[in-house]
Amino acid sequence: RDSCVSDSSDSVISSGSDSEGQVYKVVLLGEHGVGKSSLARIFGGVEDGHDCEEAGNTYDRSVVVDDEEASILLYDIWEQDNSQWLQDQCMRMGDAYIIVYSVTDKASFEKASELRIQLRRARQSENIPIILVGNKSDLVRSREVSVDEGSACAVVFDCKFIETSASLHHNVRDLFEGIVRQIRLRKDSKEE
Ligand code: GDP
Ligand code: MG
Repeated sequence: RDSCVSDSSDSVISSGSDSEGQVYKVVLLGEHGVGKSSLARIFGGVEDGHDCEEAGNTYDRSVVVDDEEASILLYDIWEQDNSQWLQDQCMRMGDAYIIVYSVTDKASFEKASELRIQLRRARQSENIPIILVGNKSDLVRSREVSVDEGSACAVVFDCKFIETSASLHHNVRDLFEGIVRQIRLRKDSKEE
């Protein structure tokens, strides 16, 4: 498996526009340290402890959801070089977004709202699937954001919500199945 190999940002962005089998581009957003790379590595099937910290990574995987296969390109490049250019690209390129905060970090929760607003501004007329993710649900004693706050925020921002623990692999599968279902739903409603 070579999914832990870093790509240069331009090759990452130009790939994945497959015309036959549809490839869905899913972009991870969120503050540093909330667990984006941990979630991405689980999705990519990369062993824990494998160190791909330095740069951005892209994970290419097919998943079967509701008896139907879907190809997902998952981009963990939001923090790659902290360039405005790349972040603008991120806001434009996704078919769907996963906005992650840590339930142990209120500031990251507030940042998630900001990102949601930024995304809405960048993609005004589009109805893009977004899942708000409260990660690190295993850290019960240092929790700063309640489940209720998370789900209320998702209602306000018109997106789905899930709490995960990358450490325990809790709800991670549900998260990625959820994003595939969301993409299909919006696609179907567009085709009518
Ligand atoms: P990123 O900066 O958003 O990519 O975050 P990372 O995936 O690099 O994670 C930052 C730190 O949080 C690392 O030390 C991870 O091991 C830790 N971490 C990530 N997810 C979880 C989780 O669900 N629970 C706990 N306890 N720690 C986590
Ligand atoms: Mg990271």
